[in-house]
Amino acid sequence: MPPYAYFRRQFMPLAEAKVGILTHALHYGTACFEGIRGNWNDEQKQLFLFRVKDHYERMHDGCRILKIDPHHSVNEMIDLTLKLVEKSGYHEDVYIRPLAYKSSEAIGVKLHGLEDDFLVIVATLPAYLDADKGVRCCTSSWRRVDDTMIPARGKITGIYVNSALAKTEANEHGFDEAILLNHDGHVSEGSGENIFFVLNGKLVTPPSSDNILLGVTRDTIIQLARNELGIETIEASVDRTELYLADEVFFTGTAAHISPIIEIDHRPVGDGKIGNITKQLQQLYFDVIKGKNPKYLHWCTPVYSKLAQAKHS
Ligand code: PMP
Repeated sequence: MPPYAYFRRQFMPLAEAKVGILTHALHYGTACFEGIRGNWNDEQKQLFLFRVKDHYERMHDGCRILKIDPHHSVNEMIDLTLKLVEKSGYHEDVYIRPLAYKSSEAIGVKLHGLEDDFLVIVATLPAYLDADKGVRCCTSSWRRVDDTMIPARGKITGIYVNSALAKTEANEHGFDEAILLNHDGHVSEGSGENIFFVLNGKLVTPPSSDNILLGVTRDTIIQLARNELGIETIEASVDRTELYLADEVFFTGTAAHISPIIEIDHRPVGDGKIGNITKQLQQLYFDVIKGKNPKYLHWCTPVYSKLAQAKHS
């Protein structure tokens, strides 16, 4: 089966979905996107989309910021994503990339008076960070963009130049990932992940006012820690020094899942091994996203109908 895309209001082979070279979003970063995981459950022969509604609600927020008319309601976006993934027939983990963008082929920096389009692509994605071994990080020399520059609350494509600068700098210096500070020096997040700390047995994560993307995985971890481990998360600004003093540190994100950080700026985190709370949260999280925990099935949307499952099994 060829990979398909939803593009210009129809399903078509990915290879045929092309934009013109004058497309506004290509020149000016005027688009917002999402990353949604489909997680394969082999026992049930089912693919579960994780918190798809929350992702599309965030996308609608991004569209409001960028004055993009996505032409589809959240429910319509969910329906056509389900159709696209089903049509593509994957029996493995997938990554879904919707994009709402300024589609006019026009020169001129602005947001108003332009045409908009919405597209969706589905693909497989190799492990983004090593969630088993843990990752080595550096504090980036790049600062996280401020809400008054490009709003970090939206997954706005132009913002990712900030992330790309930080990621490449980190990789070229031999690290797996960057940790970005705000302008005021507080810890913000990774290039594509939120960050959590275990400090004296408490879970701490930077608040939205520290220019983070309000991650769906971040919210998932806050809820799992509270409901399943009885640990409340404190949303508070974190100083750079606390990066070095925390007992455990980990990233969260749709692509990165829960990735333990084992070293920061050449200093081991805790004893340099994956911490206890991180391990417990990883186990809980991987069961939940694969639809194996009945308590959280409302977060998992099955792709394949019962009929299709019977045919495939
Ligand atoms: N921060 C940034 C900058 C990101 O790109 C992402 C990935 N979407 C996240 C945090 C994590 O968000 P989520 O858990 O919703 O994927």
